[in-house]
Amino acid sequence: MRMFRRPRKLLLLVLMGALLATDIADASNHGASARAAADTAWRASSAGGAQRLQPSAEEDAIAVHGRKRKKRSRAKPISWVALQQRYPGSFVIWGPRRYRKVALTFDDVPDPRYTPQVLEVLARHKVKATFFVVGQRAAAHPALVRRMVNEGHIIGNHSLNHPVFSRISLYAMQQQILRTDWTLRTLTGYSPRYVRPPYGEIMPAQVEWLRSRGYTVVNWDVDSEDWRSLDSQTILINIKRTLQPGSIILQHAGGGTGQDLSGTIAALPKLIKLLRSKGYDIVTLPELLGRPAGRKLQ
Ligand SMILES: [Zn+2]
Repeated sequence: MRMFRRPRKLLLLVLMGALLATDIADASNHGASARAAADTAWRASSAGGAQRLQPSAEEDAIAVHGRKRKKRSRAKPISWVALQQRYPGSFVIWGPRRYRKVALTFDDVPDPRYTPQVLEVLARHKVKATFFVVGQRAAAHPALVRRMVNEGHIIGNHSLNHPVFSRISLYAMQQQILRTDWTLRTLTGYSPRYVRPPYGEIMPAQVEWLRSRGYTVVNWDVDSEDWRSLDSQTILINIKRTLQPGSIILQHAGGGTGQDLSGTIAALPKLIKLLRSKGYDIVTLPELLGRPAGRKLQ
């Protein structure tokens, strides 16, 4: 017994070092300092009222299991543009540039504090959007998911409890997707095709599995950075910075206890007016990408 313990400790240390090293590599890739801050904000949500967002012991086990397996097979981080080139139609960060269309996407829903307000603004302006739903939040607030669908919006899969996919195993990611898929299928009547990985982070092997199951991974090329609890003016400036035909715009309609999305709600009518004044058609992801909201079940 003893003989095995020390090497195990050593191995753990080496593995932790490897994890840290890859985190730094990720940072240079997708600006993970922002991801880390967003992650902290997300985790703050679990500490407050949204207890269901805390991973269960079973999910923790999945995550730990994933970390253990990760070390052996961890691939190098890859840029989103490279992923989009490698998996055309299956990993997407923008739509066709030749049409003056853009898609609004809202992550981390449903959240009773903010999602109804976003839905009200969208209804008032007759805009349809795409909502990336967290499975555990959907289970906690099913009526809000049904409302999104009834009001003509598109639902996508944003994992079960918002882990960083690049830090969990392929198996753990599959469980995150499939369990959320089951919840959403029950609520909406279809299996959402569109998947957005939390923080946009995903590994090639994970994209490949999703592709093989008929999912389309969708990140974004316009980041409002609204999760930082920004005022509406700053949110609009952020959006205008990289906006162009075909853009997929990231915003949030749900957040943690420390997050204030009132800036998002205040910005939304202005954003819609701005986009329309520039001649943009505001569409859903199926309309932008020409692929239906649901995937074929296999
Ligand atoms: Zn998210």
